[in-house]
Amino acid sequence: MSVAGRVVLLVGGVGGAKLACGLARILPPEALTIVVNTADDFRHLGLHVSPDLDTVMYTLADLANPETGWGVAGDSFRAMEMLAGYDGPTWFRLGDVDLATHLARTAWLDEGLTLTQVTARLCERLGIRHTLLPVTDDPLATRLDTDEGELTFQVYFVARGWQPVVRAVRYVGADQAHIGAGVARVLEEAGLIVLGPSNPVLSIDPILAVPGVRERIIANSAPCVAISPIIGGRAVRGPAAKLMAELGMDVSPAGIARHYGDLLSGIILDEEDRALADAIEAVGVRAFARRTLMLTDKDKVNLAQALLTWAEGVAT
Ligand code: GDP
Ligand code: CA
Repeated sequence: MSVAGRVVLLVGGVGGAKLACGLARILPPEALTIVVNTADDFRHLGLHVSPDLDTVMYTLADLANPETGWGVAGDSFRAMEMLAGYDGPTWFRLGDVDLATHLARTAWLDEGLTLTQVTARLCERLGIRHTLLPVTDDPLATRLDTDEGELTFQVYFVARGWQPVVRAVRYVGADQAHIGAGVARVLEEAGLIVLGPSNPVLSIDPILAVPGVRERIIANSAPCVAISPIIGGRAVRGPAAKLMAELGMDVSPAGIARHYGDLLSGIILDEEDRALADAIEAVGVRAFARRTLMLTDKDKVNLAQALLTWAEGVAT
């Protein structure tokens, strides 16, 4: 079977969403499932916030705000201004249009729907034809042990602007979390599994921490390939490089390959890092150097197409 028959893409927010967008332009809905991190989720102002699901959803619906990486393009913040007038908490901002997504999600969850069902309903109304699956419907939350003490994810990321120095990361609830039913099935049936160009520690690792995810990737003989989020020793945006360095990881595609270890059959690294390809291949991971920076829609589609073509030749 062609790898493009059933592709499963694991992602966090911005970086992964761009690749999801490229793949969704090429593959029909039945050939692509996007499994999304939920360890950034939290309850705020009584609302269930799912930042990575929303980033991927808004990106696929062509509603995303490229400047912020979250929220809806052109959104207004009148509700936040009113809230500020009440001296309410405004450190985590939600736009007026974005609030509707949060109200609907929270109401449907309170009615007893699962996060998977709620996500499907939101996607359907937004005209998204490909399937987005939260990795689990159970609570999962990243906690960071930092030089300022233990911080919840959103306090670290938004309130403290990822400035605290991180010593360790854990995923609260992962041990008890059940892999989403759809997630288990698509990982078993996948012809290609892709670890998106997402933050390895904050976006991909919490997905892999849900019992059954890692095991199914290993049990499936299909190739598992990563796209490096690190280009020339830097993250395209966000804390990936800083965090990797603080955790003692090698901040390069080679470090990414080593981090994913025996899960990985191949990695696409940026052309800027071409010199590292041989060293990666020497440890048994196929390496392919090309442009990985996705600035335009054309970049996204070209990378997605190159990934599918290259992966055909990658065996485990
Ligand atoms: P977050 O949840 O929004 O932080 O999203 P992700 O974890 O999916 O994405 C953040 C990562 O995406 C960062 O480590 C970036 O370096 C990476 N990234 C963003 N845009 C690109 C891109 O165009 N190409 C590559 N290779 N990586 C990217
Ligand atoms: Ca995220």
